[in-house]
Amino acid sequence: MACPECHRHSTLLAALAPAIERTTPLTRQSLLPLLALKNDEQLRHAAKTANPRKLPHRAEPPPATNNAPQATCRHDHAYPLALAQLDSAPAVLHTTCDTDRLTQLLAGPTVALIGDRHHTGYGHQATFALACDLATAGVTLISGLHQGLDGIAHHGALHAGGHTIAVTGSAPEIPYPRQLEHLHRRIATCGAIVSELPVDFASRRWIGRVHWEDQGWPLDLCVLPGFYLARPSGSRP
Ligand SMILES: [Zn+2]
Repeated sequence: MACPECHRHSTLLAALAPAIERTTPLTRQSLLPLLALKNDEQLRHAAKTANPRKLPHRAEPPPATNNAPQATCRHDHAYPLALAQLDSAPAVLHTTCDTDRLTQLLAGPTVALIGDRHHTGYGHQATFALACDLATAGVTLISGLHQGLDGIAHHGALHAGGHTIAVTGSAPEIPYPRQLEHLHRRIATCGAIVSELPVDFASRRWIGRVHWEDQGWPLDLCVLPGFYLARPSGSRP
């Protein structure tokens, strides 16, 4: 469960995202300090919307419903411990699964398998095979969700009957990109979709990915330890 303060901060960040994009360079260097702000007023100021009358229409969490994605905040036992150690850790993770399932998925070994949207034939084959092997070995695979190597990695894990988690830049219940609606549904069934954006918020490409992109990773096929959600405690990327 997410506490009301964290839920409000998460929703405020999502509501301010368009303003942030107008006022802040979308670079890791600029975004990480902003994401580390825990105070709502500081966040409004950073987004240059300190005037309450200029706040976005929806800056409060929506009413809870049975169909809304689940949420876990930094104060909740289900929030990944390794992620909580980052200064810029999301106030809330919104997921398609319940918190017990998220804990279960992250309890064993995890590997982040992240790649580019554009790739070679070899990159496709190697990513699919590696994801299959990892899933067969009982590893939970973590990746983004796009039509390039990230999507291929999920297909590989699902092909092996394994578990996979997609970290997306849209609300977890919204398939994005739309062409991956079927894959989105399969991942939600066999694993989880995780997002920093609350229910109903449309995609913001920089949200969620700033933690593992723009860091100079060689992008055709990039295998990382699963640092984002299950990095060993005490270490930093
Ligand atoms: Zn909290």
